[in-house]
Amino acid sequence: MQPLSGPSPPPLKLDTRAIPPGLHLIATPIGAARDITLRALDVLAGADVLVAEDTRTLKHLMEIHGIAINGRPMVAYHDHSGEGVITRILAVLREGKSVAYASEAGTPLISDPGFELARAVAAAELPMTAAPGPCAAICALTLSGLPSDRFLFAGFLSSAQSARRSALADVAQVQATLIFYESPKRLSALLTDMTATLGGARQAVVCRELTKRFEEVARGTLAGLAEEFSERDVKGEVVVLVDRAAPEEVTDEVIEAALDQALKTMRVKDAATFVSQTLGVSRKIAYQIALSRPKD
Ligand code: SAM
Repeated sequence: MQPLSGPSPPPLKLDTRAIPPGLHLIATPIGAARDITLRALDVLAGADVLVAEDTRTLKHLMEIHGIAINGRPMVAYHDHSGEGVITRILAVLREGKSVAYASEAGTPLISDPGFELARAVAAAELPMTAAPGPCAAICALTLSGLPSDRFLFAGFLSSAQSARRSALADVAQVQATLIFYESPKRLSALLTDMTATLGGARQAVVCRELTKRFEEVARGTLAGLAEEFSERDVKGEVVVLVDRAAPEEVTDEVIEAALDQALKTMRVKDAATFVSQTLGVSRKIAYQIALSRPKD
């Protein structure tokens, strides 16, 4: 975690009123220690039980922000902890206590543990809430310059090349910005596979060490980035984002097929409007082609 530097700022005034019962999923910094919400700090200061993927990391974060543990129980939990830990946490929640859960960094459940726990709490119909905050995927998306209207978070792909290429082929035509997590030592291999599977001309972005001292955002084509990173010894944490596939060329045949389908249930005018909107072609052209289609 990025340490604080310079003179200490004035201490924060945390809300020390009782934290409501239930599981509180806390997002923690992905680099800069001060990227944590006041509400997350309130919960860490007031929860009856503290649960963490790594209790040492959570203790360190609390120390940085001057939050005392005060003898409260600290429990380690990850998705392979087994039923026992979840059962214990559910029992604490049934007593009406508040439990804070933080993963190692960022938002729990996002390529991090927490899913099995959250699912068990939901299934038991016990109270649960989230103190949202940092997430590397969202931070990278906002900085990438790629369209943010639709995105697909693909997390980590397999480290085996054939499985990785097949996963890339599955998302090749998805009309959304694609977001991947990757380790720095596999970045070059991932970019090479992306170039082979998605095409070297696609725009892509590598975001490295977000919110940290050596933050870097490298933009370019997949082929260009693959070449650049093949020559570098990459350190730190990375997110890779890839622009959506260019839309297929809309030929007359494509418009005709769409119109034939639409004309089965719509009048000519409506079918032309529908097809012009879905394919992004001129309504006038769609209407003219619609008029020329055989009527049956
Ligand atoms: N739960 C976290 C989140 O909300 O983003 C993700 C945890 S996952 C185990 C770790 C991966 O997230 C890293 O390998 C990297 O791909 C990405 N990541 C986390 N912090 C990052 C940072 N500061 N800069 C770039 N990528 C980061």
